[in-house]
Amino acid sequence: IINEMAVSFLSCSSNEAFGRAAVAAFAAQLDPTIDELSDIKTAVSEAVTNCIIHAYRDTLGTVYITAKLFENGELQVKIRDKGCGIENVKQAMEPLFTTGGEERAGLGFAVMDSFMDGLRVTSHPGKGTTVTMRK
Ligand code: ATP
Ligand code: MG
Repeated sequence: IINEMAVSFLSCSSNEAFGRAAVAAFAAQLDPTIDELSDIKTAVSEAVTNCIIHAYRDTLGTVYITAKLFENGELQVKIRDKGCGIENVKQAMEPLFTTGGEERAGLGFAVMDSFMDGLRVTSHPGKGTTVTMRK
């Protein structure tokens, strides 16, 4: 491991841009292309938005982000919440599945999966969710 960072913030919607910018600033040392940086920002944005609107649905909680840079140039980003958790992760990750009703497309995980090179989701109902992405 070459470098590592951690940030945490309250799950207000105005902090979505903060989380995205923090990871982008950290990823900049990789000398990413504009496209790569844009992919990372989009994926982080989806994961943080999920914490804000799903994990802490009727409440505010803390969103935790850690990012690691490895010798082989790989970036790993973890986005963690201590919110409601996901009963069925496999189902939640299916494109178009949403518990968000009409307003949501159910495409967040599909976007993270296609914009990053690896996506892992672990969740414990009532305890929270961790999304780990690689690029
Ligand atoms: P979109 O992202 O397109 O606005 P969406 O958020 O519903 O819609 P996904 O991001 O793919 O779609 O998430 C699918 C479902 O997984 C959500 O509807 C929600 O039920 C659940 N989910 C996702 N992230 C979390 C989380 N951090 N905590 C609890 N539930 C989550
Ligand atoms: Mg989403």
